Amino acid sequence: MTARILVVDDILPNVKLLEAKLTSEYYDVVTAMSGEEALEKAKETNPDLILLDIMMPGMDGFEVCQRLKADPVTTHIPVVMVTALTDTHDRVKGLECGADDFLSKPVNDTALMARVRSLIRLKMTIDEWRARELTATQLGVIQEVSSSANEDIQPSSILLLEDMDFEISKIKDTLESKGHTLTIVSTGLDAVKKTSETSYDLMIISLNLQNEDGVRLCSHLRSNEKTRNTPILMIGGEEDIDVIARGLEIGAHDYIVRPIDRHELIARMETQIHRKHFQERLRSSYEVSLSVALTDTLTGLYNRRYFEVHLQKLIENNADSGKTLGVLYTDIDHFKNVNDTYGHTVGDEVLKIFSKRLMENLRGFDLVARIGGEEFVAVLPDTDAKTAHIISERLRRSIMDTSFNTSHAEPLSITTSIGGVIIEGADHTITQVLERADTQLYMAKHGGRNTVFFEGTGQIDPAQYAPQSRPLTGTND
Ligand code: GH3
Ligand code: MG
Ligand code: MG
Repeated sequence: MTARILVVDDILPNVKLLEAKLTSEYYDVVTAMSGEEALEKAKETNPDLILLDIMMPGMDGFEVCQRLKADPVTTHIPVVMVTALTDTHDRVKGLECGADDFLSKPVNDTALMARVRSLIRLKMTIDEWRARELTATQLGVIQEVSSSANEDIQPSSILLLEDMDFEISKIKDTLESKGHTLTIVSTGLDAVKKTSETSYDLMIISLNLQNEDGVRLCSHLRSNEKTRNTPILMIGGEEDIDVIARGLEIGAHDYIVRPIDRHELIARMETQIHRKHFQERLRSSYEVSLSVALTDTLTGLYNRRYFEVHLQKLIENNADSGKTLGVLYTDIDHFKNVNDTYGHTVGDEVLKIFSKRLMENLRGFDLVARIGGEEFVAVLPDTDAKTAHIISERLRRSIMDTSFNTSHAEPLSITTSIGGVIIEGADHTITQVLERADTQLYMAKHGGRNTVFFEGTGQIDPAQYAPQSRPLTGTND
């Protein structure tokens, strides 16, 4: 995942150190050495993340952060405060200024990379929803959602997994004093049981439970349909930093270090709940008002009209992001036979199941549209060739591997052919992109069907993409 990071510090060696660390992980690094320069660069270069020093002459980090968050152009860029100060007062002040996280100097590499990855994932999800919202607004089907991420926090319901009594009572007092409702469990099993019955706004999970691996539980909660969008806040000791990093890696949203500071707990908790509500508002305003005009009534997927506007926008974004975009054209093999043999109704059922499989096997920020009878296009933002190959093979296999249960007595074996292209830069029209993908699809059909062809690569060898080799990133969506 490529991303641009703005590093802000008034001391040159500090800038150079962070720049070196991040560049070695293939991030694109932009630097600024004062608050004023940081504000300019943030607007100019549209970074995916900002690492911000607090102690700077002139405008300090707190003020920079406040200004970034107050400006609609930069408000959605996550900010991590980097500071030598370990004083919790400053941490809290930073969070109150809208910072998304904190790192102490000297910066621990594991913690740095884990935070960077996790915040960039969050940013991508929000960017994608905002792009969709903008598309729908331009098509005149919805009103713009208030983009403020700072609405008041309503009383929320929170699940706490902790087995130390003094910590439980401290957290309980702190959260209840703010009007939130706390459900307390002391084992992973009870946590899983509770979350299957109720939805929570936040889950707080101790990494120091007596007989349990808190990270494993986080991983379970992140992969579970019911809890995957619920933020997780981990609690651990200073010595648990590696475990914390692993937790962030697998998708926990944030952590707090013992001894727990009450203000920090509230600030972090509220940040997570704000984000969740903001994403929910984007999603629901979008989903509720997205009219029939933009979706296909049979499959519920986006239709061609929506797809064209959306792809156009993603191609334009390509111009300044320097990222690549995957476009997959997929068409069901011998679909006419299905209609001819089993009837049109069964054909329709196959189309529905097929659509559902596509959705299930794409990532949260990918988009799939039905653009013709049995023709579909998936758009994969910020995706390189290797990842696009993996995803295509996964789609092809998901259709082939499980037969389709329809109203016909016997399950039907269905296969699909896929043609893919990787789009770089912004100099393309929708028609050209579709034609190029269609050429690859044509080759896949002529190559025997049930196969994937990519522009520049040719036929994809399924043996190279056996199911165990699927290193796809999860999302914070
Ligand atoms: P190929 O492997 O080359 O793609 O062969 P094919 O039979 O899938 O391709 P062809 O394009 O010849 O046939 C597509 C068929 O899809 C013809 C059309 O009747 C059917 N079709 C298109 N839209 C719908 C629909 O909404 N419902 C059903 N049941 N069938 C549809
Ligand atoms: Mg077909
Ligand atoms: Mg066809």
